Amino acid sequence: MSARQQVQNLLDFIDASPSPWHAVNSVEARLAAFRFVKLDETVQWDLQPGGRYYVIRDDSSIVIFVQGQKPLVETGFKIIGAHTDSPGLRIKPNAGMGSDGLLRLGVEIYGGPILATFTDRDLSLAGRISYKDDKNAIVSRLVNFDRPLLRLPNLAIHMNRAVNEDGLKLHKQNELPLILSVLAEECLPQAYFSQILQQQTACEAERILSWDMAVYDTQKGAFWGAENEFYADSQLDNLASCHAALQALLDDAVLENDHTLVCAFFDHEEIGSESNKGADGSFLADVLQRIALATEKNKDDFARALAKSFMISADMAHAYQPNFPLAYDAEHKVAVNKGPVIKVNANHRYSTESISQALFVDWCEQAGVPYQKYSHRTDLACGSTIGPITSARLGIRSVDVGNPLWAMHSIRESAGVLDHGYMIRVLKKFLSVLV
Ligand code: ZN
Repeated sequence: MSARQQVQNLLDFIDASPSPWHAVNSVEARLAAFRFVKLDETVQWDLQPGGRYYVIRDDSSIVIFVQGQKPLVETGFKIIGAHTDSPGLRIKPNAGMGSDGLLRLGVEIYGGPILATFTDRDLSLAGRISYKDDKNAIVSRLVNFDRPLLRLPNLAIHMNRAVNEDGLKLHKQNELPLILSVLAEECLPQAYFSQILQQQTACEAERILSWDMAVYDTQKGAFWGAENEFYADSQLDNLASCHAALQALLDDAVLENDHTLVCAFFDHEEIGSESNKGADGSFLADVLQRIALATEKNKDDFARALAKSFMISADMAHAYQPNFPLAYDAEHKVAVNKGPVIKVNANHRYSTESISQALFVDWCEQAGVPYQKYSHRTDLACGSTIGPITSARLGIRSVDVGNPLWAMHSIRESAGVLDHGYMIRVLKKFLSVLV
């Protein structure tokens, strides 16, 4: 596949994945074509060398693995980690707010989105409902309204004269509720929203007990630039990295490899990773331990395997935007379409250290892929990733890398076409070599 085809494939993947629950569903659909078997955490696993498996925890985190032919103590685990969630707005439980003839939905802020970018967009809702089925069991189902449904109209400039000088500031409690509908007088706001959910899911309102619902932008991904050298979509942070990892893994030559390969995509990175399915939870450690127990002879083989292991934490990096030169360290400007970025932070907000960095550089060189190095301005607080958390929990060596991205945490982010192909190539190399 050319870099452009890879990006088109990525945009299709994102557009089919408007929420983290949908993202895992999209990953699962792609695994089916490569004969991966779904494992249930509540039953015993019978793992075979060369077997292809995946485990989903609570619908929005997934660990995919290929059981190696070689003993784990010889190869360790080769892991690529990324996250399925993106910052944005989430619907509150008692969401309906009726006033002034309009029905609005109350929202919470999930993670750290650029709120101003949510105004004047064709917004919709996607997520999951939990309901009682015919046998009275509580089950979940995905929901996607898949059309412009909601809106956060800006205030006219005539009422906000200083907006271009001061920037758009939105009061988090009062000014974020989203307009859903004209409200008929006889209608109760909560009942009306339940009715809409019922219509969309074909599930009776009284059976729907709860939901998780994310707000998303219905605008599809697009190429842009004089030569179509850039692309834009929502959720590039971090579905672009999930996609790159998946494309690297789902390659016949890589899958035939005799090492144990792992891709772990976690929910909840944007809110600190502390949950049963987040990178700071037990999920990945539980799965790795069960892989080791299924194949290794001695109790300390798992520790030996971890000591041999390596993780690439793949998340997006801040591309240089020449309109804002002062926002960047002058010696660490990373450019779009100039290759994957190795992210370094002395305070370990990124997991990169000297040896893991050198290994990644070597894989880039072997794969013929350019690379860049990023360090944040010293006087600005640096973001973080799942890298340090996962590396600390498992005690394994890790490097933080990612492709350059403009407008991180905007509802519409953009990046370079070549970089996506580069990232897939170097991840493929990593999965194919003995570390
Ligand atoms: Zn991220």
